Amino acid sequence: MTSISERLQAVRNRIAEAARLAGRPPESVVLLAVSKAHSTDAIRAAYAAGQVRFGENYAQEGLNKIAALSDLPLEWHFIGPLQSNKTRLVAEHFSWVHSVDRLKIAQRLNDGRPPRLPPLNVCIQVNISGEASKSGCEPSDLPALARTVAALPRLRLRGLMAIPEPTTDIALQRQRFRMLRELSEALQSEGLVLDTLSMGMSDDFPAAIAEGATLVRIGTAIFGERAKRPIHASTS
Ligand SMILES: *Cc1c(COP(=O)(O)O)cnc(C)c1O
Repeated sequence: MTSISERLQAVRNRIAEAARLAGRPPESVVLLAVSKAHSTDAIRAAYAAGQVRFGENYAQEGLNKIAALSDLPLEWHFIGPLQSNKTRLVAEHFSWVHSVDRLKIAQRLNDGRPPRLPPLNVCIQVNISGEASKSGCEPSDLPALARTVAALPRLRLRGLMAIPEPTTDIALQRQRFRMLRELSEALQSEGLVLDTLSMGMSDDFPAAIAEGATLVRIGTAIFGERAKRPIHASTS
């Protein structure tokens, strides 16, 4: 069995190779290690191998891990569907939220971000798979939502995020990721300053990097297969 540190290094090498093929510097792609359903011991092993950014999908599971790992200088990203009753805790304990898809959630995150902390970094999640996906804002709603989010004082709009439907068709992977990049470019041509394209997971990150991903969210390729149900830090 390979260790987390070996798998992490293999992922870093593949990111660097994809960046090289795209004519981009390897450091232009940030690796977010998606630790949902994995134990705090697994996160400590990844940290020991140099990984500091971690992504969690479930608010309570993430909060438990943040508390259990508060001795480490980690950066926490919330990447899952967000319910309004969890926005305050997420705004207090995470540095980033990638899954803002409606104004109500953005407003609540803004209101819940403590004044002692810098503005919360956010990405707007966009549905680029049409019928196949229920999460993310519709591309037609994006310009208005982006302008409103960018104006919220306790949020810092960093960019866009998407989870395209899984496919092994590389051309289709690239087409979806290209669409997100073009949506981002359209917003930037209207004057919004965006520096993040959060796209690409274990099975499609090379295509995402080819299309301009600046942050890839990778779980399985680093930590191995997940158990079906999320685990909690207290039971690890
Ligand atoms: C689980 C998850 C990932 C990581 O998926 P892998 O296929 O395990 O790399 C990335 N992004 C989001 C939003 C996820 O929910």
